[in-house]
Amino acid sequence: VADELDGDARAPARRRVVIVGGGFGGLTAARALAGADVDVTLVDRHSHHLFQPLLYQLACGGLSPAECASPIRGALRRAGNVAVLMAGAEGLDAERRELVLDRGERLPYDSLIVSCGAETSYFGRDEWSEHTFGLKTLSDAVGLRNRIYGAFEEAERAEDPRERRRWLTFVVVGGGPTGVEIAGELSIVARHTMKGYYSRIQPDQARVVLLDAGPRLTTAFSEQLSAKVAGYLAELGVTVRQGARVTAIDETGVTFEAGGTSEQIEARTVVWGAGVQAAGFTRVVAEATGAEPDRAGRLPVGEDLALAGHPEISVIGDASTLAGPGGRPLPGLATVAIQQARHLADGIRGGAPGAQGPFRYFDKGALAVVGRGKAICEIRGRELSGRPAFFTYLTVHMFYLSGGGPGHRVKVLVDWASTRVGTPQDQVIDGDLASVEATPPGARA
Ligand SMILES: Cc1cc2nc3c(=O)[nH]c(=O)nc-3n(C[C@H](O)[C@H](O)[C@H](O)COP(=O)(O)OP(=O)(O)OC[C@H]3O[C@@H](n4cnc5c(N)ncnc54)[C@H](O)[C@@H]3O)c2cc1C
Repeated sequence: VADELDGDARAPARRRVVIVGGGFGGLTAARALAGADVDVTLVDRHSHHLFQPLLYQLACGGLSPAECASPIRGALRRAGNVAVLMAGAEGLDAERRELVLDRGERLPYDSLIVSCGAETSYFGRDEWSEHTFGLKTLSDAVGLRNRIYGAFEEAERAEDPRERRRWLTFVVVGGGPTGVEIAGELSIVARHTMKGYYSRIQPDQARVVLLDAGPRLTTAFSEQLSAKVAGYLAELGVTVRQGARVTAIDETGVTFEAGGTSEQIEARTVVWGAGVQAAGFTRVVAEATGAEPDRAGRLPVGEDLALAGHPEISVIGDASTLAGPGGRPLPGLATVAIQQARHLADGIRGGAPGAQGPFRYFDKGALAVVGRGKAICEIRGRELSGRPAFFTYLTVHMFYLSGGGPGHRVKVLVDWASTRVGTPQDQVIDGDLASVEATPPGARA
């Protein structure tokens, strides 16, 4: 027995890999390390992996929460060397190589993968979160769905025409893919899905206004594709205001400056799609390692995806910044996080504390969907729009959708497709109208 114990004591301990975040980057890394000669612990404060590209569909009642989120534990159930902890990462002792959890537990690591993603940013106007809905978490989307369908109920009850108009006015701030997608879908809900549902109001009298500070929408795409998006939104009845800089948001609506004059739109529902910043845990990492975040809070990493001076700490996905081809930072896309996670896991499998060799991003393109069957898509300089882009979008998203296996994906596809022809899927208001009105918009999980 003594010999055996001695033998055990001499056996090299398995390396410990700790991953913060079960999103696209973290979950991919954990899967890629399944069966490797390492012990992995994945920490996420939520129990689910969230498919963020479908959040706007959930918010508009086209899909249900279970179709956009799947349990992390279920996704990793066959990975015997991966443990999952539902916990918040709150501290980092970089010297002792320990991650500190929200109840003070310490998780020692040999390799730390930070994949904590991003959160809604109000560019220093955090008070606006009390009057707006972000679209970053499952509870953001469910809260917005309650508000959208609650708004129609409120309008049906309102006796004052001005108040009714306020409830039937939806303002979306930000003309990037998130703002464009939610504005298009909201207009479909009002004009098609809810038609004939009410006795006193006509839902198609609802106004959807998209405010964008820049000169054109979806600036990550070419001018031609931006123009297509503007055209699709106009067809859907969305009012787009370019050059509109928001100056105030309160319970009565949104004030903005455009062309040198100040205007106010009275609205009870304001969706904030104007910006994100790296999740709060990146500040903890910066403090513990001396890393200097950029303006959006993202941590700069080298081509090996590690922090300078810390080969054992890698940061991937939306929490990191790394220059891509042409020196421009890689975009905040799921495809970037997934590819980085795989590259990193290869290095760790090969015995390194992190990635081995420089990370090279394979550009799989960018997509944005606008309302009923229209989208724009740019893949390696090739541009698509309209239905071909929409079917590309559909295929790509079904391919990446996690959880539940092929049957689940097909169900989501079918549900989604039937929403496209106006079948309501999940328009349940969770709570009474008082709670819908009191929902602290912008509440984040
Ligand atoms: C509305 C919307 C639409 C999008 N559409 C597209 C699209 O069409 N195509 C595309 O490629 N990308 C899209 N994206 C971007 C894409 O979702 C992100 O780039 C991607 O999720 C980044 O992956 P990640 O692993 O870095 O972070 P995430 O996927 O955000 O995962 C971060 C995880 O970390 C957890 N976490 C954070 N802090 C802590 C902590 N302190 N402790 C424990 N856990 C923590 C979170 O709970 C979360 O699970 C979209 C994003 C949004 C919001």
